[in-house]
Amino acid sequence: MSLNGNNKKTKYIFVTGGVTSSLGKGIIASSLAKLLQSRGLSVTIQKLDPYLNVDPGTLNPYEHGECYVTDDGAETDLDLGHYERFLNVRTSQANNVTTGRIYYNVLSKERRGDFLGKTVQVIPHITDEIKRNILLVGESGKYDIVITEIGGCVGDIESLPFLEAVRQLKWDLGEKTMLTIHLTLVPYLKSAEELKTKPTQHSVKQLQESGLQPDIIVCRTEHPLPQDIRRKIALFCNVEVNSVIEAMDAQTIYEVPLLMKKEKLDQRALYMLDIYNDKDADMEKWENFLSKQKNPNKTVTIGLIGKYVELKDAYKSIVESFVHAGAENECKVNIEWIHSESLTVENVAERMKDLDGVLVAPGFGERGIAGKIDAVRYVRENKIPFFGICLGMQMAVIEYARNVLGWENAHSTEMVKDTEYPVIDLMQDQLNVENKGGTMRLGAYNCKLADKSLAKKIYGKSKISERHRHRWEFNNKYKKDFEDKGLTFSGINPENGLVEIIELHNHPFFIGVQFHPELKSTVMQPHPIFVNFVKAAVDYSAAKK
Ligand code: GLN
Repeated sequence: MSLNGNNKKTKYIFVTGGVTSSLGKGIIASSLAKLLQSRGLSVTIQKLDPYLNVDPGTLNPYEHGECYVTDDGAETDLDLGHYERFLNVRTSQANNVTTGRIYYNVLSKERRGDFLGKTVQVIPHITDEIKRNILLVGESGKYDIVITEIGGCVGDIESLPFLEAVRQLKWDLGEKTMLTIHLTLVPYLKSAEELKTKPTQHSVKQLQESGLQPDIIVCRTEHPLPQDIRRKIALFCNVEVNSVIEAMDAQTIYEVPLLMKKEKLDQRALYMLDIYNDKDADMEKWENFLSKQKNPNKTVTIGLIGKYVELKDAYKSIVESFVHAGAENECKVNIEWIHSESLTVENVAERMKDLDGVLVAPGFGERGIAGKIDAVRYVRENKIPFFGICLGMQMAVIEYARNVLGWENAHSTEMVKDTEYPVIDLMQDQLNVENKGGTMRLGAYNCKLADKSLAKKIYGKSKISERHRHRWEFNNKYKKDFEDKGLTFSGINPENGLVEIIELHNHPFFIGVQFHPELKSTVMQPHPIFVNFVKAAVDYSAAKK
């Protein structure tokens, strides 16, 4: 559906945040987008990040959580994962822009001579580039509404140029074409037994100092906002009382769209953007999913083995994929976080004994490798469902080489450069790569699945496309040795022959993938490998009893 018939004009919603970080701007943006989408509008979400890295690809997961990869191979902020999981619509490089990228573009133009004779300044050159990147998403003509989330908090020095660009856009775009939503916190003071509005007032003042007046204020709160508190916020912050929206803490992020629907956030936004839409947001499928998520009839425990487990955000998409797959199986999936560095040959049996399935996570570098290999051996020999992702698949190959093929020193050249059996080796086109940023094998690639394989059964088709983020690969020189000893290569890239999937047939569920299926699981389309892995864990758990 288009907004104004043939005369479609994209409208823009900006989401800013104040008082504190981590209030969930991404979830509010995703929830609003979901409601608007459920009314038949086409919506996308963009994130502007204030830091100076050109993209988060070179960041350690401890710094910034998971790096989310899009189909077009962009390394992006993990909020884009939420956008895709909520909307079931693909994002791209244009959906995530950092200050680093803005400056990079402006400075490249300066070197090229595009501003010859002129002084290059934050205003207008940086703000122009920010505005260009915001409008670019709308110019594709694909969207009725573009929601742009501005990272960081108002008052941060780093996000000032973004706010200034939004202020200018108000004049460029004209009346009723954009609106600003500000997310704040309304804390509850236990001793006074009172909700406090002062932090919100200050936060809005700070936004006003940047020349921006919020149109809607969304208040995170642990307790319902009574009418008098809403009126107070409206009065002090210069908005209408029904533009003060309560965002109560929810049990799960997937409940937030329904809470926002109750608060009429979507109606309010449409009214302020002058969009006539008399449809009610049709959230039936979403409600079904939520009801399955909340009322499971069984439980399984999956061990997630990784080296960044102290920071759960490092595995955000994997965790959410388990939520989707759990609901699909009407099963609660408990994740047991296992630090790969804490696993040894001596304790692996003890640590694995209560698990119904084991996932060995993606990762980089030497740390924690031995523990991952020990875990794969244990689950392979004891027929516990196994799922290896990227580095997890590579570890399964190394384990098989060492313990089944008898190649004691088999390894990946990522860890040991001159290993005797480089069963995992650097990809040919990576040999001369020197720069680290954006140079891995990134984004969507095709894969052909073998007949009669577990993979084909899981996907129900033979041609698939999945997203990648790696430099190393299975070394095809050894393919026949592995096949002779029972390992099946069930997914191959048809263009270059790279191994995408391995599996074992003398095992109830043993699969390793070179790609990242977790990046494509959404509420409406849970990823089939996760769904089948959870199902295998349910069967394993039932057989134990
Ligand atoms: N470090 C491995 C590689 O680059 C695996 C990467 C990953 O798990 N994403 O090939």
